[in-house]
Amino acid sequence: MKNIKMLVALLAALCLVLAVGCSKPAAPAAAGTPTVDKIKAAGKLIMLTNAGFAPYEFLGADNSVTGVDVEIAQAIAESLGVKLEIVDMDFDSIVFAVQSGKGDLGVAGMTNTEERQKTVDFSINYVDTVQKIIVPEGSTITGPADLAGKTIGVQMGTTGDLFATDEVEGANVQRYKTGPDAGAELAAGKLDAVVIDAAPAAQIAGANAGLVLLDTPATAEPEQYAIAMAKGKEDLKAVVDSVLEKLIAEGKIQAWLDEYNEIALAQ
Ligand code: GLN
Repeated sequence: MKNIKMLVALLAALCLVLAVGCSKPAAPAAAGTPTVDKIKAAGKLIMLTNAGFAPYEFLGADNSVTGVDVEIAQAIAESLGVKLEIVDMDFDSIVFAVQSGKGDLGVAGMTNTEERQKTVDFSINYVDTVQKIIVPEGSTITGPADLAGKTIGVQMGTTGDLFATDEVEGANVQRYKTGPDAGAELAAGKLDAVVIDAAPAAQIAGANAGLVLLDTPATAEPEQYAIAMAKGKEDLKAVVDSVLEKLIAEGKIQAWLDEYNEIALAQ
């Protein structure tokens, strides 16, 4: 009798475990895809960015984050079958936020540098660019050699910041949260020049009367944008790389660059 009671109790417990197990079916997990499975289970892909970098990411007419990088992240989210969530933050916080898991991807016109590779992994590169110089009309600065000893505005923690800080003799480097903030200070006569990536530089020069973009780039070496991920997320990297390869092959990234350059300039 006692044994039967124990058996019934045991069966009841087993049923409970099974019931709980069955009410939350786990997505069929292919071996070796822990990050992708987690994203699918959460139903969202979190993109970390800094929305002051038109045409790659900026606030659109409806005040939501839009731009080339948003299109790219949206394509990645679609390929995973999840929705895209965007977190707008300071550019110089993105690398560490990605590494500490505050988001899945850093998509921010971010240059793939060896220094950042110590903290995060990068996708394949998807854009080639250079640093450019914006000056007031009539400036005596005509190229990088003329920047020596000048007051230069940059976006904090960017490759433009590194260039002005490490490579320009005697520069007084002023660091801002966004490129447009630096551009406004230049237009107000508080800076001699702003150094920033080519496409945002054209946007800033276009948005401020009296500012011009120099043809000669600040840096001879081109730099490449890539998407940052926490280290070792090989399954996620494979998805991101394959989406990027397809977008590049189809000419989509260039088409979005043309489209959002126009949209941002018209704003
Ligand atoms: N490409 C530059 C960098 O990675 C600037 C990026 C940005 O300001 N969003 O440092």
